[in-house]
Amino acid sequence: MFKRTRSLLALSMAVTLSLPSMPVMANSLNLPDIGTAASGTLTIDQENQYGDAYMRMLRNRAPIINDPVLNEYIDSLGHRLVANADDVKTPFTFFMIRDRNINAFAFFGGYVAIHSGLFLHAQNESELASVMAHEIAHVTQRHLARSMEDQARRTPATIAALAGSLLLAIAAPEAGIAALTAATAGNMQGQINYTRSNEKEADRFGIATLSKAGFDVSAMPTFFGRLADEYRYASTPPPMLLTHPLPQDRVTDTRLRAQNYPHVRVPESFDYHLAKARIVARYANIKPESALDWFNRTEKKSSPAIKATFQYGRALVLLDERKFDQAQPILEALYKQDKNNHFYLDALADLYIGLDQPQKAVDMLSKALEAAPSNPVLMINYANTLLAQEKTEQAVRVLQRYSHDNPNDINGWHLLSDAYTKLGQSDEELAARAEILALKANWNKAIQYYTQASQLAELGSLKQARYDARIDQLMIQRDRFMALQ
Ligand SMILES: [Zn+2]
Repeated sequence: MFKRTRSLLALSMAVTLSLPSMPVMANSLNLPDIGTAASGTLTIDQENQYGDAYMRMLRNRAPIINDPVLNEYIDSLGHRLVANADDVKTPFTFFMIRDRNINAFAFFGGYVAIHSGLFLHAQNESELASVMAHEIAHVTQRHLARSMEDQARRTPATIAALAGSLLLAIAAPEAGIAALTAATAGNMQGQINYTRSNEKEADRFGIATLSKAGFDVSAMPTFFGRLADEYRYASTPPPMLLTHPLPQDRVTDTRLRAQNYPHVRVPESFDYHLAKARIVARYANIKPESALDWFNRTEKKSSPAIKATFQYGRALVLLDERKFDQAQPILEALYKQDKNNHFYLDALADLYIGLDQPQKAVDMLSKALEAAPSNPVLMINYANTLLAQEKTEQAVRVLQRYSHDNPNDINGWHLLSDAYTKLGQSDEELAARAEILALKANWNKAIQYYTQASQLAELGSLKQARYDARIDQLMIQRDRFMALQ
């Protein structure tokens, strides 16, 4: 299967920058000037709208890792950094893309993507955090918006047209591929969006954030230096170096800057290594035996403090191979060491379902839920286990609450639609599937599904009113979305 490996931002910016032929939409159509578009700046509200639109398109086109445990990890790491960043004006959303290329990128509305390849390449949590802190700074310092504002001044296009072209670039991947090829053939340094001064500013803010959040600031120059060394003579450097050029002076600058901070010894992050083990076992596109080999080899070089993370990795491989008898003693021993560890709980729940002992999973998860009643990892595993037990109506109640609290999580809607299928409630099944479609900007189909649901519902019922109200909302959202392009 062909795998998309391009950086979205590189792709979309390359298209934007081939601007000369850009139609000057607002002027040529003589549309009334609504103010914001022509003023040459993007409001934060507009940035958020563009961010939301991007995210919906990405869900449709990028191999996003919808893994509750990894999402929880990356979200908590990201928000620990955001809490220590300056000038935060947007909410932040962190997510992972399954892609071996080393890359991370940020776009409007505080959406920050981390490639699984970056995660694997980092050697500790501070290194991963240093790249994330850098991306967070691109957002808080509004580098993307500012670069578009600059372009809007230099070209006849309005800023709205520029931002819209980003959306179009994602909507029409064929155009994106052509533009990217042309751009890589040319001087990439001149084509990309972030300037050298943007990069240095992101490093400077990023390192301050790292320090405040209690990470090892020397991780930034270490990671950048290793990247620069490894790819100095490579004919195809990783996408991150294309969107964030890394000349030697950036490595030197961050090294000097790091020396101004007090040296702190940061203990190994156990969760980071568990997350890494999970990626190696499940998302690295390698054979089970290669993953096992990686765990064995890496364990030998690692500190005793993280030994258990390799056991976890091996257990996951065995679990996914359905070698339950081998996975069970490892996972149960790990669970005994830490009964609130979500990595362990999630794997053990799958194991018990696989062994056809779902009640064990229910008992274990109920206990954990007492301490954290609405935790997404626990709730979705709980619902999944109830479904395995054929306790479908109970599962629906859990999933309704889950999807209410986590409306952007596709996993919840998938399980909910499965549950309604089992119950034979076609209208609710259609409604849940419509929510997935809307999250992927497939507005018309989402509206169509809700229309069918409404027709199936009893005439004049509360349910029908709910479906109809949702149709109205989706129509408004669709029109707003279309207006952005
Ligand atoms: Zn950068």
